[in-house]
Amino acid sequence: MTKKFKVGILGATGMVGQNYIKLLENHPWFSVVYVAASANSAGMSYEDAVKSRWQMTTPIPEKVKNLKVYDVLDIDKAKNKCDFVFSAFEVNDKKLVKETEENYAKAGIPVISNSSANRWSEDMPMLIPEINNYHTDIIKFQKKNHGWNKGFIAVKPNCSIQSYLTPIYAIEKAGYPIKRIFITTLQAVSGAGYPGVASLDMIDNVIPFIGGEEEKTEQEPLKILGKIKNGKFENRKDLKISATCTRVPVSDGHLACVSLEFKNKKPSKEEIIKIWKNFKSVPQELKLPFAPIQPIIYTEEENRPQPKKDRNNDKAMAVTVGRLRDCNIFDYKFVALSHNTVRGAAGGGILNAELLAKKGYLK
Ligand code: NAP
Repeated sequence: MTKKFKVGILGATGMVGQNYIKLLENHPWFSVVYVAASANSAGMSYEDAVKSRWQMTTPIPEKVKNLKVYDVLDIDKAKNKCDFVFSAFEVNDKKLVKETEENYAKAGIPVISNSSANRWSEDMPMLIPEINNYHTDIIKFQKKNHGWNKGFIAVKPNCSIQSYLTPIYAIEKAGYPIKRIFITTLQAVSGAGYPGVASLDMIDNVIPFIGGEEEKTEQEPLKILGKIKNGKFENRKDLKISATCTRVPVSDGHLACVSLEFKNKKPSKEEIIKIWKNFKSVPQELKLPFAPIQPIIYTEEENRPQPKKDRNNDKAMAVTVGRLRDCNIFDYKFVALSHNTVRGAAGGGILNAELLAKKGYLK
């Protein structure tokens, strides 16, 4: 890239927004020039709007501190300022999020979203670049369907999905289709945003319910692993997933305990570990700045992966997998971990934007 893209962040004061601000500080292609949040924050400097809510371990970047915060809903203000926006604002009304993102696209501003609001729109790609980079092909149909010229919407799946779907995809890509998956997630508190879950609910406790999370865990992989047919997504039909999602008192890092059953032949454990260790995909081939060098790291220690020790592997963008063993009910089981606010949120969004920039979708 000869010139940096001018980037806006919607929901810049929240947990995911702050991660974007931190991760983009020295990005070689993208420069944060615009920040937006709720009407309560609009008009203040970024530093004043965030105040003590800043959760990152590094200071607010100097370039962002004094940026004026705009109202996310005031789309006109973003026109001519941003080449594209990362969407990470949270309101209970998903219809409002969906419409707002569509209005940015209509105004000619591409949206790379972290929200679930547009994940099931049938002409919008839900990207994990290591798995389905070619789903960007749907964008030409999306633009035509909506009459959009420069704008479009690309989304990122739910944060826990990256921890186990790439290892599963790698095995299938090597020629071993899977038919049933049983998953239990142990999800960090940062996944609930800030201030998130009340401390008295979380300390010394595990909460065995996260609203909507099990449905997302069971259904989103079917779109990600699906195909584009006649300008729409056709979801994968021959895979069943059963999920239990829990919230645990961990700051960052979603863990998933996964059991899987193969459709036909089953590879040996040694073969699976070799597949994971050798797995590379499009982001690595394209040398995207945020791509982990090794997307799947297999750890041999019997008590790993652990959120505290493994979540930051390879810029917090790698998935760490361990404890591959026989399962008494299915074929094998393993434990997988990824950093929810980086790989599962802002870092994943940045990787999507890099892929879209490299492919020429962002101008
Ligand atoms: P959060 O910490 O609660 O931040 C919410 C953001 O939305 C803040 O910037 C807030 O601005 C803004 N906002 C609130 N009400 C608004 C309104 N009425 N209009 C416009 N903006 C409004 O949430 P988060 O964890 O960052 O999550 C943001 C999005 O990312 C959600 O869709 C979430 O599902 C998704 N996500 C989160 C994670 C994660 O690990 N946390 C992972 C993947 C995806 P003010 O500061 O002005 O209130």
